[in-house]
Amino acid sequence: MLEKMEILDVEKLVGDFEVMTKDAENVQRQTLKMILEENGCAEYLQNMGLNGRTDPESFKACVPLVTHKDLESYIQRVADGAFSPILTRKPITTISLSSGTTQGKPKFVPFNDELMETTLQIYRTSFAFRNREFPIENGKALQFIYSSKQSKTKGGLFAGTATTNVFRNSQFKKAMTAMQSECCSPDEVIFGPDFHQSLYCHLLCGLIFHEEIQLISSSFAHSIVLAFRTFEKVWEELCDDIREGVLSSRITLPSVRSAMAKLLKPNPELADLIENKCSRLSHWYGLIPELFPNVKYIYGIMTGSMEPYLKKLRHYAADVPLISADYGSSEGWIGANINPSLPPESTTYAVLPNIGNFEFIPLKENVEEHMQENGNVSFLSTEPKPVGLTEVKVGEEYEVIITSFAGLYRYRLGDVVKVMGFHNSTPELKFVCRRNLMLTINIDKNTEKDLQLAVEEAAKLIAEEKLEVIDFSSNVDVSTDPGHYVIFWEISGEVSDEVLKECCNCLDRSFVDAGYVSSRKVNAIGPLELRVVWKGTFHKILDHYLGLGAVVSQFKTPRCVGPTNNRVLQILCDNVVKNYFSTAF
Ligand code: AMP
Repeated sequence: MLEKMEILDVEKLVGDFEVMTKDAENVQRQTLKMILEENGCAEYLQNMGLNGRTDPESFKACVPLVTHKDLESYIQRVADGAFSPILTRKPITTISLSSGTTQGKPKFVPFNDELMETTLQIYRTSFAFRNREFPIENGKALQFIYSSKQSKTKGGLFAGTATTNVFRNSQFKKAMTAMQSECCSPDEVIFGPDFHQSLYCHLLCGLIFHEEIQLISSSFAHSIVLAFRTFEKVWEELCDDIREGVLSSRITLPSVRSAMAKLLKPNPELADLIENKCSRLSHWYGLIPELFPNVKYIYGIMTGSMEPYLKKLRHYAADVPLISADYGSSEGWIGANINPSLPPESTTYAVLPNIGNFEFIPLKENVEEHMQENGNVSFLSTEPKPVGLTEVKVGEEYEVIITSFAGLYRYRLGDVVKVMGFHNSTPELKFVCRRNLMLTINIDKNTEKDLQLAVEEAAKLIAEEKLEVIDFSSNVDVSTDPGHYVIFWEISGEVSDEVLKECCNCLDRSFVDAGYVSSRKVNAIGPLELRVVWKGTFHKILDHYLGLGAVVSQFKTPRCVGPTNNRVLQILCDNVVKNYFSTAF
């Protein structure tokens, strides 16, 4: 018997969200109570002396703020298959590998059914708001999603990236169908072991179903840009496959070949159509609506470290709306994009008060407090005083702390957010940057966001020559005396030395942080160095992370390469074509 297809009741979802967010403080209290009642017997909480108390005050008094490092030994014991409840009452059966771009190696974090449920809740919530403004019809989604290799830990737990754990969960497909966002590619493509082959097949499936495609998505916008950059290189081969109905020999995996064979039939008309469209385009502008005439929007995380890809994405998308996906991490979800018509640069995320307990460390207050005490800004050493979800103030920046249903208690996520307003009584957050990604030599402090703004400014100089920065990263070089900032650029074509020198000066001038500027003026920080790398260098970095078990879906280019991340630094340094030193100061 055919199962009746469940379609989401978006009005009900929006209504439920409204009710819940009107009572955010109470919902937070209840959520914390549920988490602590459920897991109070776990070793970690037992050691904290809560003695059954579940109120936020006792929780804050007894349980310390922690980072991943503090929990590593607990999570390792879970992964090793400990029998007793360690972090949660119910045994954890799956481990997520976070993308690990920051530290250079993936971190283990627990994943469980409750986390899956909150993932779906956030997907459904943002879909409900999105669908009111951008309704999609029955059709398909071209989703550039990939799976990491799923391995087993010593204790026999499944270990994969968080997105893989979500995509593999039986609930995921059902939820996507209910959101009319069923992926046009077969499972063999999504879960194929070779990302390059999967990407090619995703593109091919998209073309086969080109009229049905209602939306194009990926977890992070980087994958969509990567996909269409690849399309530029392989489109003729894709057309040949469609014309002949025979899959390119570049696809060697038997399971993928046989799954694709079921979809691919000779279709010379479609091949001609695509060829015509591609040859008419100027610099691939508007490629997406040309290929997919019924696409309603493009969806994926577009804020934070994804912002640098927006320019290219807009180029491909022309007037198709770009909508940023929600805010979360392998450790847990935080907020949904409930204002989908805002451009990604202005996107905020409304926190769902029932998916975890949230606290926020005010960044300004801690700096000021400590400055008063010590007359300097070494605020990282002060014991931060977090505030609750409904106590945050508009216009202020905070570091996010999560207490989740998956065994993390008062966990410092390391992200900085800014409160832009409230939706009912829950805050709407703008993602600012990762807290620990910082260029710093002495008194200077530049975040990932500062770097991004500097690169944007300098890239305008090559945009005049119709060229672009494909990707970028940075590093602090203290092997010179004084130390200096190094910025790595991969550029889409040849640029004259003259222009690149100007870019280098512009980068140096664009870091406006007072500590940096004053240090540069007195040469306590040396001239900024721009190193141009060969085309394809950032692809090598991606491949390096894939080799470590990361997955393209969650990949974020490391924007500051720390000293522990030797391999990535080496890839960058080995591929330098030319370098320039700033003469701006
Ligand atoms: P992962 O550990 O791979 O799950 O990556 C999680 C991290 O990605 C978060 O801690 C953020 O730094 C970043 N991230 C997730 N969602 C967003 C978003 N909507 N906007 C900006 N950054 C995000």
